[in-house]
Amino acid sequence: MQQVDFVYHPAVVSGLDGHQGFWIYFSGDDLLLSPVMQADPMKEPPWTRENLGFLSSESLLLGKINDVTCQVVRIAEVPEGWQAIGLRDYLIACSADSFKIVNAASQLLFWLSTQNYCSRCGESFRFVENDRCLSCPACSYKSYPKISPCIIVLVVKDQQLLLVQSHRYRSDMYSCLAGFIECGESAEEAVHREVAEESGLRVTNIQYHSSQAWPFPHQLMLGYIAEHASGELKVEQKELRDAGWFHIDELPNIPPLQTIARQLIETVVQRIRTGTAAD
Ligand SMILES: [Zn+2]
Repeated sequence: MQQVDFVYHPAVVSGLDGHQGFWIYFSGDDLLLSPVMQADPMKEPPWTRENLGFLSSESLLLGKINDVTCQVVRIAEVPEGWQAIGLRDYLIACSADSFKIVNAASQLLFWLSTQNYCSRCGESFRFVENDRCLSCPACSYKSYPKISPCIIVLVVKDQQLLLVQSHRYRSDMYSCLAGFIECGESAEEAVHREVAEESGLRVTNIQYHSSQAWPFPHQLMLGYIAEHASGELKVEQKELRDAGWFHIDELPNIPPLQTIARQLIETVVQRIRTGTAAD
């Protein structure tokens, strides 16, 4: 795929009639792949110029991809010859550019689907031309796309990593501890609290690593690495099926490369193998 330059549209507005630019199609929570995309779904871009004939009132202006306007739409039925692919399955394997754009499209569509009426007074929301939000004409309340910050943390003890298995995971995969940040809490406080609640451990030397948007439905994962300080592992059974210390040479099934969890794991394994101290 050629280099991709993506710019968000500066407002949340419906699409353009007779749109000649790019389209991204969803059906339910799935991304739709055209016959061309199906040839190589992880290399072909998920946007197409194929206009399936939707009205502007049904679609949303997402932004510009390489200076071409792109709009997104969720359609009821998968057109003949097209294929629906689970969003999670797509995102863990696609390119970084496709990840970013499909992520944004999915989150905006989900948010809009929950924003028909003002949550303060019940009036129908309206689009706002110059701001990326919806506004209530009766009480002026504004609703911005929702983003829920979470922490995800890899806890390290010597050459061992604390990896956990959530009840939500479909397979035997182990990942890092994660949880939502509470109102009024800093990300670092959330790291301490989540680790203590779910594993009974205390951590020190918390270091920020990187972040990743995750559209299930609108998390922003803030990734940290922390060192074990004290305490014995005690698994919180309501949240976790299992948890354990795994030596870096004997890791279980871990998340795919595209995920921030895997990037945290790769960073720490690399640091330990090369003897690089956390800087
Ligand atoms: Zn209102």
